[in-house]
Amino acid sequence: MRFGLLSGCILFFAVCCYSLFGHSEEAVRRAEAHFTADTIAHNAQFALERRALFWAGAFVELGFLVLLVFTKLGRRIADGCHYLTGGLWLPTVLLVGVYYFAAEALLRFPMNVGRFLHSTAWGMTSRPIEDWLVDYAKSLGVSAAIGAIVLVGLFLLLRWLPCLWWLPATAAASALAVAYAFVLPVVIEPIFNTFTPIERTQWASLEPRFRDIVRRAGVEVDEVMVVDASRQGHHSNAYFTGFGATRRIVLYDNLLNRFTPSEVETILAHEVGHWYHDHIVLGIAMATGGALVGFLVVACILLWARGRGRLSLACPSDPAALFLLLFLYVVGQWLAAPVQNAVSRHFERQADAASLKWAKEPDAFIAAEIRLAKENLINVAPLHFNVWLFASHPPVVDRIQMANDWKKGNGTADDRR
Ligand SMILES: [Zn+2]
Repeated sequence: MRFGLLSGCILFFAVCCYSLFGHSEEAVRRAEAHFTADTIAHNAQFALERRALFWAGAFVELGFLVLLVFTKLGRRIADGCHYLTGGLWLPTVLLVGVYYFAAEALLRFPMNVGRFLHSTAWGMTSRPIEDWLVDYAKSLGVSAAIGAIVLVGLFLLLRWLPCLWWLPATAAASALAVAYAFVLPVVIEPIFNTFTPIERTQWASLEPRFRDIVRRAGVEVDEVMVVDASRQGHHSNAYFTGFGATRRIVLYDNLLNRFTPSEVETILAHEVGHWYHDHIVLGIAMATGGALVGFLVVACILLWARGRGRLSLACPSDPAALFLLLFLYVVGQWLAAPVQNAVSRHFERQADAASLKWAKEPDAFIAAEIRLAKENLINVAPLHFNVWLFASHPPVVDRIQMANDWKKGNGTADDRR
């Protein structure tokens, strides 16, 4: 076990160091065709500092879980909670959950403040810290509510079906993912921002142009909303969200303020591409498959762990099992990240192709990519390893390349009109 832990630590540090300090001459050379050396270096420095903060957070989270699972700490905490609740099982599970949630929030708080101060120092936001703290408290509240539902549901299944819990858990996770996607734009996101239909904003005159794209794509887009993202920072973005009746495309006010209508059109067409290809439904379907495999592996480990190791679980529904479940979840997330991100990059390429097909504005597409990269301080010369491990979107240079290829294959701008 000690050898396994030591190997894990060495691997973690090797990945961390390479991801921070690795350098690709080829990526820089390709970026130089579209960006100045100053922009490439400036954005790379921002990415390096951001990643260092990320690794610090990951180190704290994993380190804490290793302590809970591989020393006597986790068992002692669970036994303490058992004593405090008078031996009642479900209250003990909830108390162990509250302990972990509070401890993790406390440990991560300095890193989150660091991220906020870092954004401020780099000019990504100018909001006061009190304002940020209010949003931070709200997000903790949302996480606690969702966490409590998942915790109680999962442990009830572990208790009722100690050997077969993974089957109903997969069905429940899938139903929960659908419910979450459904309520996200109408219940959760409005806690943090105001969303207004575009026809009721100062950008109403753009709506017919957007409707034209939607008509060309042949999809039923009910709502295009504008979010007051400028409240949080200077970031520009757009996204497709919701499920069934709550599906919508959301555009940041920063985007509408600073990008040309043609550039916004290409970004909107990209979001329509996600809609057209049913990426949310496909994402949930794939996650369900992943959850089935993941739960089955966890079920075997939980049965194997009975009476073993420092946690010495009495049964799979032992409240101390929560620490092992969280450890396995975090490790599983790391292992699944390259696959998840590869699927996400594939979806993004499909949406980019859709944008070029429906907006027919490759030059505006390229201009928007360059502007997004500059304004959002995106690393335009990323290491291939970091793209593989972390990137949910293809590198900016690849997306520009796609637009240039499309241009070559579809004649001049005049031919296309
Ligand atoms: Zn996208």
